[in-house]
Amino acid sequence: MEVENDKGCSWINDLNSRTNIKSINSDEDCDWLIIGAGYTGLSAARKLGKLHPNQKIILVDAQLAGEGASGRNSGYLVDTTLNDGFTSNKDLENYKKKTDIYAFGIEVVKKFIKEYQVDCDWNESGKYFASSKKEDRNILNNFSYTLSRLGFEHSLLERDELFNRLGTSFYNIGIYTRGGILIHPGKLVRAMIDALPYNVILYENSYLLNWYKEKDVVLCQFNNGNIKTKKIIFATNGFLKSLGIKSNYNFPITLTASMTRRLSDKEFENIGKPKEWGVLPVKPMGATVRLTKDKRILIRNTAEVHNPFKMSSKNLKKRSINQKIGIKKRFPQLPDDIIQSSWSGIVSRTRNSSQIFEKIDKNIFAAGCYNGSGIGVGTLFGEQIALKASNEISLEIKTIEKINKPTWLPPEPFLSMGIKSRLLYERLIARSEI
Ligand SMILES: Cc1cc2nc3c(=O)[nH]c(=O)nc-3n(C[C@H](O)[C@H](O)[C@H](O)COP(=O)(O)OP(=O)(O)OC[C@H]3O[C@@H](n4cnc5c(N)ncnc54)[C@H](O)[C@@H]3O)c2cc1C
Repeated sequence: MEVENDKGCSWINDLNSRTNIKSINSDEDCDWLIIGAGYTGLSAARKLGKLHPNQKIILVDAQLAGEGASGRNSGYLVDTTLNDGFTSNKDLENYKKKTDIYAFGIEVVKKFIKEYQVDCDWNESGKYFASSKKEDRNILNNFSYTLSRLGFEHSLLERDELFNRLGTSFYNIGIYTRGGILIHPGKLVRAMIDALPYNVILYENSYLLNWYKEKDVVLCQFNNGNIKTKKIIFATNGFLKSLGIKSNYNFPITLTASMTRRLSDKEFENIGKPKEWGVLPVKPMGATVRLTKDKRILIRNTAEVHNPFKMSSKNLKKRSINQKIGIKKRFPQLPDDIIQSSWSGIVSRTRNSSQIFEKIDKNIFAAGCYNGSGIGVGTLFGEQIALKASNEISLEIKTIEKINKPTWLPPEPFLSMGIKSRLLYERLIARSEI
């Protein structure tokens, strides 16, 4: 089975096509092999390249680098999240650990864009958690209390203020957090590809079929060649499970999103000419909606168990119709045919919202499972797993290793049945927010 993405993602289509794409076509030996060239793998490769200038480092991806979830997400670089099981104050300590990691994630991306002078539409606009249901006030009050105790600047907003800021009367209650950055995910990941050090060899369209350990080396089989490596880092996130990495601790979830064309001046005026904004849902299965810097509207309102390797155009179309409805609910004044593109992407989840950052075996490392918040954390984990695999230690590693480890998941078919019924339930309670 090979990873096959649709070609519909606006973020990726905004970028110039790349040239000089190399694939594996012979057998090779190397010191380091990284599987997966999203934020995690690219950051690991960048760090390893600097740490070991005289060693041979190979980075491989099944598709074009950065065109997995890293190039097709919603672009929220978050400092806080609401829908990850830490809404109760009982779990304040764990929530703090999580936000410490988000803070490191933001810093590492900031440092990267400063060092490489990256233009990724960086906007420290803050973000909203909003709902159309007045009953969600309780959830937001609890969240506000948690944010206050941890010192996150925020404010509770009512309908009129939300309307003024967002240009839609859909939302009745919300929290605005000062922290949180909006970016263009495609531009960020493309910059990471461009920043790869000279001693990193990038092979694309090269799918890892199988791997095994023989004494202290790892042998990896691809369609047109094998790679023998001294050390390996798995950075395939939603595909960790399919490669047998921590299989009982993570599972893939497929998300779909759609983006409108750029609003005309008249349409923009009709929605009140708001500044760029991003809204996250209060209920986990509600919609993420964003107005981009260049006046496009993005919506993501699905999360499901689906074949992670491919979504048919028929299935994507069904989800796109649902997303058109989501946009019309919020902006009835916009025309029906305004969606320009729809796409799917794969993320990885764990049962307890913890991430994977581990030495799996001698010379074998893995980082992933960001539960939908991987821009900052993926960039951070990539750099830090490279350090860990190089036997170095850092404050970041110590902080990451303090978080709870992912908890065990039941085997199939119980796992899929459990996730499907949970998602169905969450979708039901969030149906007004889709
Ligand atoms: C629609 C959507 C919206 C999202 N919104 C946000 C958001 O707003 N904010 C946020 O922080 N996060 C968001 N995320 C999550 C975020 O995109 C991911 O957490 C992040 O991209 C993970 O980066 P990664 O490098 O670990 O994995 P990926 O970007 O998934 O990279 C893994 C790579 O591994 C490759 N691969 C897989 N199997 C193999 C194999 N066998 N051989 C070789 N290569 C292989 C894949 O081709 C892929 O390119 C969203 C994701 C999606 C899909």
